[in-house]
Amino acid sequence: MSVAFPPGGPSGPPAAPERRLLLVHAHPDDESITTGATMAKYAAEGAHVTLVTCTLGEEGEVIPASLAHLAPDRDDALGPYRIGELAAAMRELGVTDHRFLGGPGRYRDSGMMGAPQNERPGCFWQADVDEAGELLADVLREVRPQVLVTYGPDGGYGHPDHIQAHRVAMRAAELATRAGADGAAPHTVARVYWNCVPRPVLDEGFARLREAADEGEIFPFPGFTGETGFARPDDVPGVVEDRNEVDVTVDATAYVKAKAAAMAAHETQVSVRSTARGEFFFALSNGLGQPLNGTEFFQRAQGAYGAPDSGHGTDGPAGTHGARDLFAGVRE
Ligand SMILES: [Zn+2]
Repeated sequence: MSVAFPPGGPSGPPAAPERRLLLVHAHPDDESITTGATMAKYAAEGAHVTLVTCTLGEEGEVIPASLAHLAPDRDDALGPYRIGELAAAMRELGVTDHRFLGGPGRYRDSGMMGAPQNERPGCFWQADVDEAGELLADVLREVRPQVLVTYGPDGGYGHPDHIQAHRVAMRAAELATRAGADGAAPHTVARVYWNCVPRPVLDEGFARLREAADEGEIFPFPGFTGETGFARPDDVPGVVEDRNEVDVTVDATAYVKAKAAAMAAHETQVSVRSTARGEFFFALSNGLGQPLNGTEFFQRAQGAYGAPDSGHGTDGPAGTHGARDLFAGVRE
C-alpha cells in the first residue's frame, strides 16, 4: 500500500487534515510508561495513532510469582505473553494500530547493556540499522505520519534496545524520504520528537509519594519481596535538567487513568497502585515506587529534523513551556 491511507481510498476525501502520530518504542510497556497519556489523548481526539514496538521484551524480569515460569531462563515464553499484554494496553489507550517492527519476534530483546544476550544473533542490538530502518520506513510510507516520536540518542537511559530504537527511527525518517522498493511514494515526517521528563517534575512527583508515605500510605508495594522503597530521579529514562529543554508539553492529565490501566495491563513488568488521595504511582520489577504523570514531555529532535522553521513553540502560551501540541506548526 502506498498512498491509500486514510480509509476512503484514492477516490475518497483527501488525506489531509487528518493528524497521524507514530511512536517507536523498544519493548512492550515502554509506550504506556513514557507516552501512554499522550497516545490516549490523541487517539480520543481522532488522530490516527500508530505504535511500532521493536522487540517482544523477552528478557524482562517477571514480577508476579505465578508467572515466573515465563522467564527466559525457564520456559522462555515471555515474548508471546507480552504480545497479549500489549494488546490489552492498547485497548485501554484506544489505540488500534500497533505493530512489531518486521513482525512479532523479528528482533529479540537484547537485555541490559553488557549482558551476554547483547551478542546473540537476532537480538535488536545486533540488527543492521539500515535493514531495520527500511522496515520502519515502509511503515512510515504507508501510514504517512506528520509526527514521529522516539527516544533521544542515549535511548533515555542507555538500554541497548532503546539506543537502537532511536537509531532505527532516525534512519527510517531519512530512508522514507525516498520511494520504497515496492513503489510506495516517499514520505517526509514534519516533526521528530524525543520523549523526556524534566527533573523538577520528577522531584515534585517523588515529593508527593513521600508525603503519601508520611500519611500512612503503604510502601513497599504488597507482593514485592526484598527491600523496596522509592526509585530516584536518575533511575527514570529521559531526564532533562529543566523545563527549558522541553519543546512540547502534552497535558493529558484527563487520560491518566487510561495510562495507569495500560501500564497495569503489562502485569509481568509493572505494578500500579493509587494512593488514598487518588494519585497513581507504579513500580517496575525492582519494587521501587515512582510517580505516574498524566503530563508528558517532548524534545524536538536535533539534527536534520531539528531545524527550526515555523513551528517551534508557536502554539500555546508563550514562555518556557513552549508548545502544547505535537502537531504545532505542522501544515495539515
Ligand atoms: Zn524498554
